[in-house]
Amino acid sequence: MIYKLIKILFIIAGITSIAFYFLNDWPVWPIFVILLGYIALILVLSTNIQLNFFVKAYHNNPGFSENAVALSFDDGPTEETLEILDILDRHQAKAAFFCIGRNIEKYPEIFKEIIDRGHIVGNHTFSHTRKMGFLSSKTIQAEIEKCDEIVRQTAGLNLNLFRPPFGIINPKTKRALENTGHKVMGWNKRPYDAITKSPEKIIHRITRDLKKGDLILLHDNMPKTAPILEQLLVILKQRNFRTVRPDKLFDIHAYN
Ligand SMILES: [Zn+2]
Repeated sequence: MIYKLIKILFIIAGITSIAFYFLNDWPVWPIFVILLGYIALILVLSTNIQLNFFVKAYHNNPGFSENAVALSFDDGPTEETLEILDILDRHQAKAAFFCIGRNIEKYPEIFKEIIDRGHIVGNHTFSHTRKMGFLSSKTIQAEIEKCDEIVRQTAGLNLNLFRPPFGIINPKTKRALENTGHKVMGWNKRPYDAITKSPEKIIHRITRDLKKGDLILLHDNMPKTAPILEQLLVILKQRNFRTVRPDKLFDIHAYN
């Protein structure tokens, strides 16, 4: 609703500036300012999942009853996932894995292993394409449904949770999710591990200002994640943080 209002206001401003340009000899720059302003606003709104602007998502739960934080891993399953599962086992931690359909097809046994070891899995689309922000709602829906179908065939589960690739949620994603009915799980601790080289920096970004009920985002498709996770779990223990599985943090169901 607010988005529609913003869109209408920008359209009115755009038409007015074009009319003034032709009829009243106004300069051309107001037209560009309005256009760029609109593009910038949409970019900010669709790439900041925590704003809950287009879709309400689960990011953290500061009111959680225990001194616990939650772990989540995106972009698997891969061969790296197995070591991560071993580390989680050693620390008796349960996490959420948002898996890419294409990777589940490639590593069905690793995918089943995630579930067998007591973690939950969620939908992270079929292809995780870089064009995510430019897809039609129909294509996004197909991406989500294809991943769902692979999970059903591989593990017999109906996924309830979705995490958008790159955290992009725009009006098209919103429409697709209205049709598929998935709940969206975001995060509130994103260390940008995929684009940051230094493990120390990644751990610092997670642990500085870490509070109970926080949800951490990592990726199980990189060799550096295992040592980072090992260190992180030691720090969590030193700070008396337990880990809680994300579905339990928000009291929601991972499957239908
Ligand atoms: Zn991803």
